[in-house]
Amino acid sequence: MKKFYDMTIQETRNLLRKREITVTELTSFYIERIQRYDKDVKAYLRVTDEKALEMAHYAERKIEQGEDGPFLGIPFGIKDIFCTEGIETTCASQILKGFIPPYDATVIKKLKDGRFIHLGRLNMDEFAMGSSTENSSFQTTKNPWDLSRIPGGSSGGSAAAVAAGLCAAALGTDTGGSIRQPASLCGVVGMKPTYGRVSRYGLVAFASSLDQIGPLTRNVTDCAIVMNAIAGFDPMDSTSIPQPVPDYTKCLGKDIKGLKIGIPKEYFITGMDPDVMRAIEESLTVFEKQGAIIVDVSLPHTEYAVATYYVICTAEASSNLARYDGVKYGLRTEGKDIIDMYKKTRLKGFGKEVKRRIILGTYVLSSGYYDAYYRKAGKVRTLIRRDFDKAFKSCDILVTPVSPTTAFKIGEKMEDPLTMYLSDIFTIPVNLAGLPGMSVPCGFDASGLPIGLQIIGKPLDEALMMQAAYVFESEKNIKKIPDTFR
Ligand code: GLN
Repeated sequence: MKKFYDMTIQETRNLLRKREITVTELTSFYIERIQRYDKDVKAYLRVTDEKALEMAHYAERKIEQGEDGPFLGIPFGIKDIFCTEGIETTCASQILKGFIPPYDATVIKKLKDGRFIHLGRLNMDEFAMGSSTENSSFQTTKNPWDLSRIPGGSSGGSAAAVAAGLCAAALGTDTGGSIRQPASLCGVVGMKPTYGRVSRYGLVAFASSLDQIGPLTRNVTDCAIVMNAIAGFDPMDSTSIPQPVPDYTKCLGKDIKGLKIGIPKEYFITGMDPDVMRAIEESLTVFEKQGAIIVDVSLPHTEYAVATYYVICTAEASSNLARYDGVKYGLRTEGKDIIDMYKKTRLKGFGKEVKRRIILGTYVLSSGYYDAYYRKAGKVRTLIRRDFDKAFKSCDILVTPVSPTTAFKIGEKMEDPLTMYLSDIFTIPVNLAGLPGMSVPCGFDASGLPIGLQIIGKPLDEALMMQAAYVFESEKNIKKIPDTFR
């Protein structure tokens, strides 16, 4: 029999439906794998195994009562950034240590309504700031394909857990690439939906105009199932879009004859890893063989995206993180008066990268610099969005690399934040424009490290992206789990 980590969620559900396995057996399978492998990978900050088994028993009772659902009884790992009632939520920061939310984020509530199993909390860069998960204040997660390398970030724990078969699926967040880049570096599927498609209520905020929640899964079908569960309007999030959500599984299996795929020339830069370049070029021939038409497009303001992003995201972060003052959440360090207590708490509670961003964000928002930096960045953001609007007049989706390189060594970029920031050069413009984007595994480099292909869609057109991704995945049939984890 196939192992559970080689099955889609649908296949596993069918076994549960036919009573060939129980939810407890499935949950125990993943808990045992975590016990066996996670001491090497370090994807989980906390395993909520007791809770998981409780949820499994409950799901079993529901199955006995005749309940059904697309992910009923399926074990998920959750990035430690989603408020979950009764479960410590830290954002991998010392400042939130001990914070137990009294409510569920909307996405968690939706997964609970579908009776998912909560296996545990996945590691991340502190407050989702980073591209390697090395900014976690607790531990460094390893890339399952090579344990001396980073899994990408900030959702590195989510990507590594999915890649090592330590959960069936995971949730992540993407502000500038944090789902797509780790998905690419770990060889799994990751989607950032259109801004506003998934409710951010109960998500610990980093940069609110950029943050989006999305799935990390081992295949496109699972991505569609998780998207069906989490997408949709939520009155609790004022940026949530009041539009109906299609059934994303319906687009899987449709052909892509005549689909126009735009290739932005600015995304094929010198300095890019030649193996990545080759893998993307080979992928284009796969699409062409399936009847797609390749068209050249231009996104002329791409070169300003990283700079624009680091003005906007730090400005928003400096404001969002003002709430951690030792009074409302988690850590408190006593001082001689209240100001001293604030200072000591924030000094101790935040890591280096978080402090760097608060300082930068406060600076770009300060009077005298606001117009020169923050307002200017807003204008450039509009130009970047218009580039995409124009490109989409001549194509249906865009195809680009996700990351200019494959997974780098642990420690390699920690001393140089600017090179680290360039890891997201191809993903950031998508967040600035609010578009949907996804990473699909497309090959390996000479050292056997995964490479991801980015598909970018028109606003709210996640379905077409998944349709193309599914065709590609079926043609390419890329290995999902490293042999050492089988
Ligand atoms: N790596 C980018 C950053 O450090 C993106 C992070 C994210 O998407 N959360 O901000």
